[in-house]
Amino acid sequence: MTRKCAWCGRPLSGVSDGRKLPLSWKRVERLYGGYLCHACLREAILRWVVKEAAASGPIGQSSA
Ligand SMILES: [Zn+2]
Repeated sequence: MTRKCAWCGRPLSGVSDGRKLPLSWKRVERLYGGYLCHACLREAILRWVVKEAAASGPIGQSSA
């Protein structure tokens, strides 16, 4: 079974090397692991992080 990137169509190889990635990155990697190549995965994560940040509202609100 050969997996290909859903975006660029490149064959996937060794996508699961996300140990050095930030936590939010790993969350998305679970969703897209084996689905996108590393380059497209990064792009997807960047979009996801921006979307997540926008959804969570303005940053810097102090509860104090
Ligand atoms: Zn790709």
